[in-house]
Amino acid sequence: MSETKQRTVHMVDTYGQYQKIKEEVDREVIAVMESTRFIGGQKVAGLAENLATYLGVKHVIPCANGTDALQIALMALGLQPGDEVIVPAFTYVATAEVIALLRLTPVMVDVDKDTFNLEVSELERVLSAKTKAIVPVHLYGQSANMEPIMDFAKKHDLFVVEDNAQAIGATYTFSDGRTAKTGTIGHVGCTSFYPSKNLGAFGDGGAMMTNDDELAGRLRMIANHGQSKRYYHDSIGCNSRLDAMQAAILDVKLRHLDEYSKARNWAANQYDLAFTNMDQIIRPVRATNSDHVFHQYTVKLTNGRRTELQTYLKEQGIPSMIYYPVPLYKQKAYDHYWTAGETLPATEVLCDQVISLPMHTELNEEIIHHISSHVKNFLS
Ligand SMILES: *Cc1c(COP(=O)(O)O)cnc(C)c1O
Repeated sequence: MSETKQRTVHMVDTYGQYQKIKEEVDREVIAVMESTRFIGGQKVAGLAENLATYLGVKHVIPCANGTDALQIALMALGLQPGDEVIVPAFTYVATAEVIALLRLTPVMVDVDKDTFNLEVSELERVLSAKTKAIVPVHLYGQSANMEPIMDFAKKHDLFVVEDNAQAIGATYTFSDGRTAKTGTIGHVGCTSFYPSKNLGAFGDGGAMMTNDDELAGRLRMIANHGQSKRYYHDSIGCNSRLDAMQAAILDVKLRHLDEYSKARNWAANQYDLAFTNMDQIIRPVRATNSDHVFHQYTVKLTNGRRTELQTYLKEQGIPSMIYYPVPLYKQKAYDHYWTAGETLPATEVLCDQVISLPMHTELNEEIIHHISSHVKNFLS
């Protein structure tokens, strides 16, 4: 490998991925343009149907983005202002944002230090008479531990809304051996088709999924101005649509989703090998009850030199990201939901230590070697 050759290393290579399916995608996009059926129609219905089949769920309701999906899901549950919703403190802001927007109270809890997902023992600690729902997040591509979460929810009559924006295609295995795709286990699952997500559109998009017929009707109605039939509005809703062009593109990409997950796993395994026996790097821990679709390849750096590593990598033309640098309860917009001085230990450590390396479907041995040897250079 020549060290002088200029490489462009991408965090996410949407261009490279598009080149491989360009013919199919272009054909579908042109067909939508020719049809001038830009909103709704067969393309959107077709994607919903194909995604439902893929996930093994009864209903998929497309919407405008993943944040809307979470908001509409919470709106459909009939919660009252002041009701408490449990959410991990280590997640993307959207998860808590929609809770606050609806005048519900986000109750932030810690995550497991290894899997980065909701720490189940926290549920008992924060349960109150006002608790009405839990929003577990399947962070970085791996399912939260859904079986005990669902058991707890059932016992205390709580709703579960899964934030599946980062783990579409992942499979959770129950203790009896039964399996289910993430997003199909709780009362409602929510996902995002933001371009960099594992199933990414060429713009914004999102979807909700549920096995409950009545809930599906409500989700559909709320996403469409609370309209039960045309110009009859039974509830206050919003305007949240996936457009036909995005649906057509997503339908093509859905056919490749398993192959994409495989490519991501291959890349993760290559990184893992490269970082074997390096005591300053803790590699991603695989949950025992979930497979991984590696939305991110995120390691923990234990030597306190994360900023320096990022700077060094940047100088070599290698991007990296910190998902997420600040616990939700330390964010200005959310700290009033928090008792000053309290901290969540695992969340704090993760915010200080995590760093995500380039992860996408187009990585190859050479690029991974290039990235990992620079990481190793810096640490040796
Ligand atoms: C991306 C993401 C969202 C929001 O999705 P958008 O489509 O950007 O609105 C919500 N939750 C998590 C965990 C995400 O990663």
